[in-house]
Amino acid sequence: MRRKLVVGNWKLNGNLARNKALLGEVRVGGFVEGVDIAVCPPFPYLQQAGDVLSGSGVLLGAQDVSAYQEGAYTGEVSGPMLVDLGCSYAIVGHSERRSLFGETDSRVASKVGAALAAGLTPIVCVGESHSQREHGEAEQVVAAQLESIVAAIDIKLLDRLVVAYEPVWAIGTGLTATPEQAQSMHVFIRRCLGRSGVDSDGVRILYGGSVNAGNAVQLFNEKDIDGALVGGASLVFDGFKAICEAASKASL
Ligand code: PEP
Repeated sequence: MRRKLVVGNWKLNGNLARNKALLGEVRVGGFVEGVDIAVCPPFPYLQQAGDVLSGSGVLLGAQDVSAYQEGAYTGEVSGPMLVDLGCSYAIVGHSERRSLFGETDSRVASKVGAALAAGLTPIVCVGESHSQREHGEAEQVVAAQLESIVAAIDIKLLDRLVVAYEPVWAIGTGLTATPEQAQSMHVFIRRCLGRSGVDSDGVRILYGGSVNAGNAVQLFNEKDIDGALVGGASLVFDGFKAICEAASKASL
């Protein structure tokens, strides 16, 4: 059975004082039985988060990772640097990076390769826009996003991947895919990976898109929803904790 994973993506939020309060709550109450939990603060606060969360069982992740290891790449943060700071995970190819910062499928694939080479677990985000879903293209779009990764990286490494299915129309909008819509796409993603030769049974596929305390239980009860990538609701401890507890309950 795949162990559930709940990841908080803080995006561009926080400051030292606010983080101290939230991380303190996560440290004391964030650990729940049977679930892996991680938080992904902005780069400058990884050290702070690592210090506060050390020994708590809550893991650390980054919101992005460079495709490069080191050298003349101003502004980049490499996989080995993130490992140095105690990160276990790196989100790669979030739709905000794809749409606002021009990340292409091939750049995302390079970042996945760099994360794996550094010993990080990449959390690769895939998902369709609203109009792509309306036009019946959702599976085709997600398949192409996965294909570029599968084509670029040694298949044997890809069972270490975490995939986050994040329909773009559900991110930060309050709209959530129904559990049935999400489950159906998760099965499709697992099948795509399997067909490409990835040992996909153990690959965790998270759902992301307006997950909150009210909808988490139903989502986690679906067989192929192995956890969540949580944006807005990860910034308020009670909401994040409720999502983690829902994941724990669904694992029993
Ligand atoms: C995200 O940023 O990955 C996300 C899913 O955001 P939200 O939960 O706010 O929709």
